[in-house]
Amino acid sequence: MYKMKNRKFIAFLIIVILIVLIIGNSLLSTKNVYEKEVDGHNGPIRVEVKIFNDIIEEIKILEHNETIEVVESTLDLIPKNIISRQSGNIDLITGATITGQAIIDAVSQCAKKAGLDLFSIKANQTNDINYNQKEYINVDVVVIGAGGAGLSAAVSASQHGASVLVIEKMTEIGGNTVRSIGMYNAVNPELQKPLGINDSEDIFFQETFLGGKELADPKLVEILTSQAYAGMLWLEDLGVKFDTQVDSCLGGEYARGYYTMSHNGSDYIKSLNKYCTNNEVDILLETKGTSLIVEDNKITGIIAKQHNKEIIITANKGVVIATGGFGYNIEKRMDYDNSLTADMLCSNAPGTTGDGIEMAKDVGANLINMEYIETYPLGDAYDGGLRNNIPDSINNGILINSDGKRFIAEDANRDNLSESILAQNEGFAYSVVDSDYLKDEKDIAYLEGLVSTGVVTKTFNIEELASKLMVDQNILEDEINKYNKFVDNQNDKDFNRKNLINKIDEPPFYYAKKKPTIHYTLGGIQINENTSVINTQGKVIKNLFAAGEVTGGIHGANRLGGNSLPDIIVFGKIAGYNAAMN
Ligand SMILES: Cc1cc2nc3c(=O)[nH]c(=O)nc-3n(C[C@H](O)[C@H](O)[C@H](O)COP(=O)(O)OP(=O)(O)OC[C@H]3O[C@@H](n4cnc5c(N)ncnc54)[C@H](O)[C@@H]3O)c2cc1C
Repeated sequence: MYKMKNRKFIAFLIIVILIVLIIGNSLLSTKNVYEKEVDGHNGPIRVEVKIFNDIIEEIKILEHNETIEVVESTLDLIPKNIISRQSGNIDLITGATITGQAIIDAVSQCAKKAGLDLFSIKANQTNDINYNQKEYINVDVVVIGAGGAGLSAAVSASQHGASVLVIEKMTEIGGNTVRSIGMYNAVNPELQKPLGINDSEDIFFQETFLGGKELADPKLVEILTSQAYAGMLWLEDLGVKFDTQVDSCLGGEYARGYYTMSHNGSDYIKSLNKYCTNNEVDILLETKGTSLIVEDNKITGIIAKQHNKEIIITANKGVVIATGGFGYNIEKRMDYDNSLTADMLCSNAPGTTGDGIEMAKDVGANLINMEYIETYPLGDAYDGGLRNNIPDSINNGILINSDGKRFIAEDANRDNLSESILAQNEGFAYSVVDSDYLKDEKDIAYLEGLVSTGVVTKTFNIEELASKLMVDQNILEDEINKYNKFVDNQNDKDFNRKNLINKIDEPPFYYAKKKPTIHYTLGGIQINENTSVINTQGKVIKNLFAAGEVTGGIHGANRLGGNSLPDIIVFGKIAGYNAAMN
């Protein structure tokens, strides 16, 4: 009887202990959910953060009043990057820096409540797990850089049967491609002819070659201009959807530019990345290519660093360098053009530091046209980005300096525009438009969105416009009246502007402050028609390919707006194909 009672008591005790353990454990490892409201650009942003065992697992933006067209990628990428790095030390996205910083602040305050410091070393400790390790990987093709050129090369190599690995040094894929406006030049008679645009591959070639001051390699220009349309169809097969709008980009004469549906380079990256995810093309993030491996006079792989781990990647067939340009590297750009000083704005992604050019140079590659670095004349005067532009302002608006005067034909090429804006008092210009040229509801909503963020200012008459621009009203009025007469007579007597399609006569008037921003590096690694890298003796470096902004010789001394996206797709595809078939 006593034994029986004792057994019951022991069983009861075990159950109690188990319950205490389970509750205790679940209390210790509760998934804590925190909420914080912070000030964004247009009002409060409410953020929810889930933290489990000191790890930030989920970040949700519950509410915000930001302009979605402006902040879309920030709302997507900032939470993802905080989670992948477990840190607040991440790059903001130009054009939406206030929103990005607000999200980081909100997450940081939630983390604090959970006893975490988002900016401390502890918060980054997951980065150090593989301290001092070495890893060996073997694939057919390794691609350095996960921008548009690198992902196109990876997809193309995979489509031709190769096993492919992509390495990307940043926390996110996309490089400059994801920041682009997405305009893709190609000759597409189906869309151009009904609009009366008599374009041809030959005109496209001539415009590109002459625009580049005849310094590009004509064979490469021929490939670009004749294969751009095929590249567009290839993208459509991968899921990219193009708008039917045909446009001419700043600096390009013929209207042959197509946008993706969201007018955003992220559309290209999403579709290329989707192919990679579905077809076992791995992308290693935060993995920086540091040097190429050379054996028996050919390239056999690449050494990369991932935090403190060294990864030795051998490639049976080839290595594709697709690391983009060097616009973000102040020292390097000043080596080639010392007028591009540190105080200049830059539209580029932080990863564009010219690493691939250095790696290729170390194995004997020839570099060409390095001194040609393009500034985009109409960068956002506050952060150097391009996203916050008044839609189609260059074709329909005018540029005014701080004296209230026009100073150049607004349809001049990019070099002349930038030079001329920098020569004005304080090196900036106001881009001014009226309101009757915007027929598209989407563009009007976008413009009004920019007004609400303060990037664009709306004024209801010339008097208010002059007062906000702080210029003499009589001077501004005379200048606008003169310009409107030029449009009536189709003759710009002051600057010989050719494109005279819209008068500045319909209030409200909108304006934004613009400054030239470092935008595109035209020079780089010399390649041949197969994208094989050429050495300083004019010979092919075996197994080494390059594509995208890292190369030189495709645009010569000046690039037509909208010509880079077809460049990275066409030559990325060729590089992937040749590496896979090597
Ligand atoms: C704001 C903006 C708007 C633009 N709009 C247009 C447009 O509308 N139309 C047009 O034709 N062109 C446009 N351009 C130009 C065009 O977007 C770029 O030239 C093009 O996207 C470059 O593609 P890429 O693949 O060569 O380089 P990127 O897209 O820059 O990719 C290079 C990648 O390599 C990575 N990388 C660098 N070094 C290493 C390393 N050592 N190891 C691993 N990874 C590395 C980088 O982090 C980056 O992700 C625009 C450019 C900008 C900045």
